[in-house]
Amino acid sequence: MKDNYDLVVIGGGPGGYEAAIRAGQLGMSVACIEKRVYKGEPALGGTCLNVGCIPSKALLDSSHRFESAKHELGDHGISTGEVTIDVAKMLERKEGIVKQLTGGVAMLLKGNGVDWLQGWGTLLDGKGSEKKVKFTALEDESETTITAKYVILAAGSVPIDIPVAKLDGEHIVDSTGALDFAEVPKRLGVIGAGVIGLELGSVWRRLGSEVVVYEALPEFLAAADKEIAKEAGKLLKKQGLDIRLNTKVTNAEVKDGQVAVTSDKDGSLSEESFDKLIVCVGRRAYSEKLLAEDCGIKLTERGLVEVDEQCKTNLDGVYAIGDLVRGPMLAHKAMEEGMMAVERIHGEKPQVNYDTIINVIYTHPEIAWVGLTEEAAKDQGYEVKTGSFSLAANGRALAQGEGQGLIKVVADAKTDRLLGMHAISVGAGDVVHQGMIAMEFVSSIEDLQLMTFAHPTISEAVHEAALSADGRAIHAIQRKKRK
Ligand code: FAD
Ligand code: NAD
Repeated sequence: MKDNYDLVVIGGGPGGYEAAIRAGQLGMSVACIEKRVYKGEPALGGTCLNVGCIPSKALLDSSHRFESAKHELGDHGISTGEVTIDVAKMLERKEGIVKQLTGGVAMLLKGNGVDWLQGWGTLLDGKGSEKKVKFTALEDESETTITAKYVILAAGSVPIDIPVAKLDGEHIVDSTGALDFAEVPKRLGVIGAGVIGLELGSVWRRLGSEVVVYEALPEFLAAADKEIAKEAGKLLKKQGLDIRLNTKVTNAEVKDGQVAVTSDKDGSLSEESFDKLIVCVGRRAYSEKLLAEDCGIKLTERGLVEVDEQCKTNLDGVYAIGDLVRGPMLAHKAMEEGMMAVERIHGEKPQVNYDTIINVIYTHPEIAWVGLTEEAAKDQGYEVKTGSFSLAANGRALAQGEGQGLIKVVADAKTDRLLGMHAISVGAGDVVHQGMIAMEFVSSIEDLQLMTFAHPTISEAVHEAALSADGRAIHAIQRKKRK
């Protein structure tokens, strides 16, 4: 470890490690400080690789295969005998993937000349041209002051806890606990019908839990396009997720090994009992131990580090990225911001396009979108035209037994410019990348109509949705609007 670097990155999650790698590529001397210990070992990769995106997707895949083997293979004439789940083996597979990826990040840092400092980083002083960062080693708690020309704060986020449902680590858990249940809970309660509630609720439901999801808001998936949210609500309900909207949990306590949950819907209270309860009501920026009191950094009222569009803080040469700052809490957003900050330090001028950040909810089918919803486009004053296409009329989807959901495009009726793409379909997360690329190139609906999409693919539904915006979808009867 040196005591002077060009750049010190605090936090080794997707935002921080990507920034550190890019800086290494550009020839800077870089330290990445990360304090995480995962299952007894210091670990890079942040929330995303250790307890977020990757382990949740590993469990979503295992549970999907289980459900498919149990309920779908028969349709193909395949018989399997009794299908059972070995939860320990499933978790072992998940851990293997996490280890492979976090180990890979450690190798990438090393290969790019980045020093991984295992411990806590605290910005002591960011005001002058020489920044001061305190490093407290995990190993022996020794403290060293490091100086750097630039600092990137990438400390991420942690789950929000609510006083009515205090975590006990066994029965009442957050998303991290819900990735490690040793057995399938018979009855599972979930507080929050957001991304985590739907993904992890789906995992355990597929494996056999009866799942009740409490959501305080009256509207389901308020951030999604209404048509997609409605379809999602319908499909998830059909799968067996019992989603209770407009219902607040007022108390949750452990009694005789069960969690007793009291909830309030329109003033009427009810009590139910669960083996486990997951609290997933959002995440908050994590800045404990990150900032010395007089380091000079400004925070917002919500405790985020205040930054501009280029992730610059109020202090020259100090940047902040990812979950620690405004915008959606998504790994790909953190990564792009990390890259932008480093390249700006290097004198280049990249800019993250916040209008084309994709959202994906990895249920089955997946729910994904990019750009404006129909409602948001109208609110912004656009004269809107939309087109949508049902997967029930897509040959590939039917051949795969996936004929559920729809793909929708939202456009400016005056200019024909694509403003958003929304999908609930098998592979929706990949499908909407077409919308992202089209929007980056300021494409029109006509551009999507004029391209040749391969047959049979799910992407054909993008083509048909674009055609449908002008009343000319081929595999749907459209008599109203024609061009
Ligand atoms: P983090 O990944 O949180 O990393 C920050 C790191 O900084 C942490 O490892 C922390 O230990 C370290 N740190 C904090 N303070 C200090 C300090 N003072 N000194 C040293 N180190 C410090 N996003 C997606 O895009 N797709 C998904 O599918 C997805 N799934 C998710 C599933 C779950 C269950 C959860 C919880 C999250 C999921 N997310 C997903 C969100 C995603 O994980 C985050 O948006 C992303 O990890 C943010 O990256 P980051 O680098 O800003 O912060
Ligand atoms: P979220 O914001 O997606 O959902 C939280 C939900 O809880 C909201 O619908 C909210 O109305 C509800 N809620 C809040 N307080 C409540 C209460 N007291 N009672 C009942 N309902 C309540 O948050 P999350 O699901 O915890 O996820 C956290 C973050 O992690 C998200 O911002 C998301 O971006 C990220 N994440 C992303 C992915 C992905 O990209 N696939 C997956 C998981 C997590």
